[in-house]
Amino acid sequence: MKLTILGATGSIGVSTLDVVARHPDRFEVVALSGHRQVEVLAAQCSKFRPSCAVVGSGEDAKRLAALLKKTGTPTEVLHGEQALIQIASLPEVDAVMAAIVGAAGLQPTLAAASAGKRILLANKEALVMAGAVFMGAVRRAGALLLPIDSEHNAVFQSMPHNYAGDMTRGGVRRVLLTASGGPFRCTPLEQLLGVTPEQAVAHPNWSMGRKISVDSATMMNKGLEVIEAHWLFNAPADRIEVVIHPQSVIHSLVDYEDGSVLAQLGNPDMRTPIAHALAWPERIDSGVAALDLCAIGQLNFERPDLERFPCLELAYRALRAEGNAAAVLNAANEIAVSAFLDGYLPFPGIGDLIAATLDVVPQASVSDLDGVLEADRQGRDVATALLKRLGKPSG
Ligand code: NAD
Ligand code: MG
Repeated sequence: MKLTILGATGSIGVSTLDVVARHPDRFEVVALSGHRQVEVLAAQCSKFRPSCAVVGSGEDAKRLAALLKKTGTPTEVLHGEQALIQIASLPEVDAVMAAIVGAAGLQPTLAAASAGKRILLANKEALVMAGAVFMGAVRRAGALLLPIDSEHNAVFQSMPHNYAGDMTRGGVRRVLLTASGGPFRCTPLEQLLGVTPEQAVAHPNWSMGRKISVDSATMMNKGLEVIEAHWLFNAPADRIEVVIHPQSVIHSLVDYEDGSVLAQLGNPDMRTPIAHALAWPERIDSGVAALDLCAIGQLNFERPDLERFPCLELAYRALRAEGNAAAVLNAANEIAVSAFLDGYLPFPGIGDLIAATLDVVPQASVSDLDGVLEADRQGRDVATALLKRLGKPSG
């Protein structure tokens, strides 16, 4: 199978290459992208010898080309958004790992869908922003969409065989998404005002990029995943529930009409869902250790506290509102998370900024990519303007 890996230098990208390297007879890397991590990308190119590598800027392209020349690596270097779209839709590519973080991944991921590829979807923001448009492109081009997000991968594995998007016909009552609750599940509420970016990105169970780690701390990550589950499985908002499960061993569950509940379990390591989606419908070694249930001892569950995690509620609100709301929510969240990471917004300000943005941007229906991009722009503009009011005065 010939692969393009978008976001190869990130947490998911590196885990993907780890799985790929275990099966050299099975996978061939055709193209890689990394935004600014030129050294990491150069090392990946010299190991996997793709025909093409993409970086963000012309300057980084020159740096990468110079590094590749030194090691005699025959990889062509391109840069910019158009080049990402190009490597996502190359005719010789069978599968595209969509692992760019945030809205920046939308257009290349959509290009892979329109080109009818097997899409391994990690970039949940693309589906949150553009659900209807994205799923329409998948359907029209006959693309195969396989979820990498551990929860959705678990739901995919627990759904009826050949599930075609009809919960009632499949006898499915509810989709249950598990959530660890992140690093602040038990922190006294009054202390949340003072938490630092370093505390927020220190996830108890998973090692991930900085943006998704903050999303896990606010539980916006679970909110985005509720919206993602809606589009992937055609599940209405009131049939998607979130359960806090601090050990992150059960990755999610499907509740059937007859009372059966099916789940997928495993050690918290993204190489499992990555290997699952790479090889589906077959199974391959991922490098993940076998689960030792007796060593884990206990699995616990609790209901999410919406006072502590207002972002979860905001995501349900955006999903129910339809139209542009989820794209606005995602845009405001990206602005809020980066302001928090820059020390400009206190942690509880993330939810406040998103709620205020949703209140200000007028509701609109969205029918195409331009509509999605307009909603994203409006969300960013309004959130940026409001930030001046909610951010720390000292900056
Ligand atoms: P990361 O920050 O570690 O890596 C992000 C990748 O995107 C890097 O390769 C970076 O070069 C690239 N990138 C960043 N900005 C870009 C831009 N403007 N244009 C082009 N490329 C850009 O992130 P990650 O943790 O690997 O997450 C990637 C995606 O996978 C996210 O959407 C995240 O929600 C999702 N995801 C991650 C995990 C995880 O365990 N890390 C789990 C589930 C879902
Ligand atoms: Mg997840």
